[in-house]
Amino acid sequence: MIMTSSTLPNTSEMIARLAELSESSSGITRQFLSPQHREANRLVGSWMETVGMRVREDSIGNIIGRYEGLETDLPAVIIGSHLDTVVNAGKFDGILGVVLAIQCISALYKEKKRCRFPIEVIGFADEEGTRFQSTYLGSKAVAGTFDFTTLSRIDAHGISMQDALLSFGLDPDKIQNAARKANDISAYIELHIEQGPVLEKEDIPAGIVTEIAGAVRFQVTITGTAGHAGTVPIDLRKDALVSACECILSVEEIASKYPKTVGTVGQITVTPGASNVIPGETVFTVDLRAADNEIRQKVEHELISKMRRLCQKRQTKISIKKVHEASSVTCSPRIIKQLQNAFTKGKYKPYCLPSGAGHDAAAMADLTDVGMIFIRCKEGISHNPAESVSEPDMQAGLDILLEFLSVYD
Ligand SMILES: [Zn+2]
Repeated sequence: MIMTSSTLPNTSEMIARLAELSESSSGITRQFLSPQHREANRLVGSWMETVGMRVREDSIGNIIGRYEGLETDLPAVIIGSHLDTVVNAGKFDGILGVVLAIQCISALYKEKKRCRFPIEVIGFADEEGTRFQSTYLGSKAVAGTFDFTTLSRIDAHGISMQDALLSFGLDPDKIQNAARKANDISAYIELHIEQGPVLEKEDIPAGIVTEIAGAVRFQVTITGTAGHAGTVPIDLRKDALVSACECILSVEEIASKYPKTVGTVGQITVTPGASNVIPGETVFTVDLRAADNEIRQKVEHELISKMRRLCQKRQTKISIKKVHEASSVTCSPRIIKQLQNAFTKGKYKPYCLPSGAGHDAAAMADLTDVGMIFIRCKEGISHNPAESVSEPDMQAGLDILLEFLSVYD
């Protein structure tokens, strides 16, 4: 049951309350279908009810509030972002977009105002893909592009997504019910922290996103031969970790050759993992991103063939599994124009920039026209407990959202 409180806390208090819902005591970790996800949905749902929204949780675990318009049969504008986090995250990534969307409805509700069109606020269940190595699960379900083969994915504790959904009280066979009809939605707007240093450098609180970079993620397994660290001479070894190290260096080397392209290895496990044993197997992730789809594919092919050559030389085996791929997405020119009007009306410089990070808006682009507002964050730091957004910048985000709703047509 959703508990309704009579007044909505302020933006900073809401962010602090959500930050308490963490699996870890340092930083914030809130994964898809975790008890903390359940708590976050309860809390956010209660805030939505407080500001006059009709609240429901859909079949993938997204929390959705609807604020009716003056004309109920008009398609809705969705404002949203995600409520899940990476491991050891900051307080603002995703969360700020959901919190400010609710504040926006609160401002309308207090003045007993409604737009012509209905507004829905969505807190997406999974964007980061932390638990099952598959991003945009929440927004893909809404866009009708959920990949059902991901249901068999296993988390770090051996729990499948299928079982995790069941334990959360959701029916995996009903995920398609989360999909929305294109005719019922006229736009998706996402406000998100920039997660980069550009707005700070420009000395402006907010910007308008023009495109979202594409990304691909792999899981790479290198198999060598485990052996005694004292008795096997170095030239007779098939060391899976040394082989992986060469591959990891090639990620950096190849990605740096191309414009607006980055490559990262953020996770690695070594087995058997003992100080006196030569590593027999190494598993690591590769995350490649580029603003241009063709460049990303080129980097991907170049990297894969280089890693294969490197492993062949060391006589280790390599297997590469693609676990995520998203094309770069262009934000809707119609929405960009209306955001520019909203920025200008609010006396903010309508500064445009691309997004190097993926966002739910990329998945929602399969359903409807999308637009994104970036908010400056301190030193561009994100995916880090040091993530920080100033109160005036949060207020600017709220002003811009309200201006957007007032000019949106
Ligand atoms: Zn995010």
